[in-house]
Amino acid sequence: MPIATVNPATGETLKTYQELAPEEIEYCLATAAAAFRHHRTTGFPERARLLGLAADLLDHDRDTVARLMTTEMGKPLAAARAEAAKCAKAMRWYAGHAEELLADEHPDPAEVTDSGAARARVRYRPLGVVLAVMPWNFPLWQVVRFAAPALMAGNVGLLKHASNVPQTALFLEDLFRRAGFPAGCFQTLLVGSRAVEGILRDRRVAAATLTGSEPAGRAVAAVAADEIKKTVLELGGSDPYVVLSSADVDRAARTAVTARVQNNGQSCIAAKRFIVHTDVYDAFAERFAAGMAALTVGDPMAESTDVGPLASEQGRADLEELVDDAVGRGATALCGGRRPKELPRGWFYEPTVLVGVTPEMRIHHEEAFGPVATLYRVRDLDEAVELANDTPFGLSSNVWTRDEAEQERFARDIEAGGVFFNGMTASHPALPFGGVKRSGYGRELSGHGIREFCNITTVWHG
Ligand code: NDP
Repeated sequence: MPIATVNPATGETLKTYQELAPEEIEYCLATAAAAFRHHRTTGFPERARLLGLAADLLDHDRDTVARLMTTEMGKPLAAARAEAAKCAKAMRWYAGHAEELLADEHPDPAEVTDSGAARARVRYRPLGVVLAVMPWNFPLWQVVRFAAPALMAGNVGLLKHASNVPQTALFLEDLFRRAGFPAGCFQTLLVGSRAVEGILRDRRVAAATLTGSEPAGRAVAAVAADEIKKTVLELGGSDPYVVLSSADVDRAARTAVTARVQNNGQSCIAAKRFIVHTDVYDAFAERFAAGMAALTVGDPMAESTDVGPLASEQGRADLEELVDDAVGRGATALCGGRRPKELPRGWFYEPTVLVGVTPEMRIHHEEAFGPVATLYRVRDLDEAVELANDTPFGLSSNVWTRDEAEQERFARDIEAGGVFFNGMTASHPALPFGGVKRSGYGRELSGHGIREFCNITTVWHG
């Protein structure tokens, strides 16, 4: 993929970039290694001061960077502004909490004495240079939720961002530089995916984190495994959104629309499979389909737009294939199921609800990365749990029920990294984020996220 800004609302190429040459990559690696030698010795107050300044700068630049993101990947402008605000909030959260999250741990003195020690403690030390391979869907947030904890822990970052968001990637490098982080603490490498292996194999790179598709995750994890380097993978999801008979159906249907089409439907934690108890199915289906059909699809820069274009022509083609495959095998669209005729330019797709989906259809098992929902009717709780887990993915899940026993059943049995009752999945700095099964491994955010790239060191005194 060429490194370029191509406006998905028009298909127009606005800016192209030359990939870094091998000697430029070498320079960045050397700079990162040198930066780590210094950054690891700085204290939490200094790191927090710099990250706080980065948050202030980001607040100041919110509108500018929001327009950049919308231009590069098509999310509605209001959502882009909200993303920038969320990033500043996460930076402040880590600036305020990192010291406490990484404080030394003191095991029970009696047990430590038993090991022959006079005293012992656990210390969280940084790992080193961490390579972040990131996607375009939340071009700021995906990076910040790695960078804020990494920098606070004393690590330094190398960003290989998706090839279609180079300007946002360069904005991030510039943001950390303007905040005062020394050169090399956070660098953007304008490289294609083929350059990742060489960078990851370099002895100066300690670990990698990747958010994106399963093939990308597999490729990076295979190289990291060969080099015995730590990885965190945050891959796709096909989250269930279960509505049971005690649910507030009206609220569940309204939230379902947002949960499906947020970010033009291109979110790993978007609800994608809607599993509804037969008692409330008809009421839910009618309201959900009406809500999806009423959305305004159009220019993402317009404040009135709910759903912009898909980020790439390929992304729309992949989504169309999934819908066409399902319809070809007998599924029906309650709404949508096609490109909007009135928007011939750009990579738009109508919000779609499919019913009659069966396991023979690709969309039953694959992630629909766009505004397409599948809707299923179930007879009871057991069937709901079974269908919710009938997916290779396990990122998050949503369950609407007021019944505590039903809630407990899902909290016990759902195969996912999160379960959100009577609401939709959203990430928050204080809550761990990540999945099981093909959604990846490791966690981002919270104390769990910041400790992923730490050397958990036993300090033992005889
Ligand atoms: P990719 O997974 O291809 O891209 C994500 C990042 O990985 C990009 O920086 C990309 O670089 C890089 N990458 C891709 N292949 C490799 C590789 N073999 N080795 C090293 N790095 C690699 O996402 P796509 O944009 O192609 O989207 C395809 C699908 O991925 C979507 O339909 C969706 O299912 C899933 N996805 C999930 C996301 C999530 O949030 N979990 C986010 C984005 C996509 P480059 O851009 O240069 O190819």
